[in-house]
Amino acid sequence: MILVFIEHQSSQYKKATLETLTYARKVANMTGKECVAVVLGANTNVAELGKYGADKVIHVTNEQLNSFDDKLYTQAIGEIATKQRASFIILTNSSIGKHLAGRLSVRLKAGCVSAVNKLPQIADSVKVQRGVFSGKAIAEYEIKSDLVIISIMSNSIPVEESEGKGVIETINLELPPNVIIIKQIKKVEGEIPLPEAELVVSAGRGMKGPENWGIIDELADVLGATTACSRPVADSGWRPHHEHVGQTGIAIRPNLYIAIGISGAIQHLAGVNNSKVIVVINKDPEAPFFKAADYGICADLFEVVPRLTEALKKFKNSN
Ligand SMILES: Cc1cc2nc3c(=O)[nH]c(=O)nc-3n(C[C@H](O)[C@H](O)[C@H](O)COP(=O)(O)OP(=O)(O)OC[C@H]3O[C@@H](n4cnc5c(N)ncnc54)[C@H](O)[C@@H]3O)c2cc1C
Repeated sequence: MILVFIEHQSSQYKKATLETLTYARKVANMTGKECVAVVLGANTNVAELGKYGADKVIHVTNEQLNSFDDKLYTQAIGEIATKQRASFIILTNSSIGKHLAGRLSVRLKAGCVSAVNKLPQIADSVKVQRGVFSGKAIAEYEIKSDLVIISIMSNSIPVEESEGKGVIETINLELPPNVIIIKQIKKVEGEIPLPEAELVVSAGRGMKGPENWGIIDELADVLGATTACSRPVADSGWRPHHEHVGQTGIAIRPNLYIAIGISGAIQHLAGVNNSKVIVVINKDPEAPFFKAADYGICADLFEVVPRLTEALKKFKNSN
């Protein structure tokens, strides 16, 4: 069977999780195997998973699994995978997914590839691909173990509803007590988190100072986009660190990335050049970002951005 691990937050499934389930459904169709979703901890919404292709949902309701504990999660998923003879374990390439993939790979002696961005080729072995060297090249990996573990990069596959039986099996496993106790979780409220955002408006040192960010927020608002920034902007305290994208920040893959007053240093590009469409606004025609851009506007951002926002507002009002 194809085991897919379902992350959830307060009974909600993130888009990236549903993409992973869609991916697993497709692998199940390719192999003629059952798609089994595993949900750990309390959740009231498990019935919904059938709609996205789960034939069966194994809901493990132990209290110890209510918050993320990588050792216990690995044990629970590992036991289910072994018992059900999984041939694939498919995870989301989130920080939780990445934690679990490595641990499961060692525990179950299975080949593991993270950040996979295409459906696999399945014959005697399994071939998967992912971007490498900051997205400048594509590497293909062949996995020969009986069990294959992969984590799926967000925005690699659109969420699809499909027929799945969604039979729910609720179980309790014998697990030790938690070693890690989470005392408090502080969430960033409001906009869609960067790893899941389809539209991103990002700005750099060309903004001159934090007092000028109003024009970026306005453009992001009219587009319904998430805001991001370059590293020096976060390091200077102009913007919060969770907005920093790049080699040392978050790697994203939105459908649209608008880079405003950002030079396009290699370390910045490392986190954003897998975006489907890149628009660059920079007054320097030699700015390296133009080489990675699909569309470029060579002009002063303080003139262009407000005009772009106005034009988009008019377009929205007339449509
Ligand atoms: C190990 C290491 C890791 C790093 N990791 C990251 C990372 O993860 N993410 C990251 O972003 N950086 C990272 N950096 C830093 C990176 O090398 C660059 O220094 C940084 O990305 C530059 O930020 P910037 O483009 O905002 O600023 P600048 O390089 O100062 O560029 C500002 C740009 O704004 C333009 N501009 C100025 N005024 C205007 C205007 N009025 N209108 C239009 N355009 C204007 C300029 O032409 C210029 O191109 C890392 C560096 C190192 C050494």
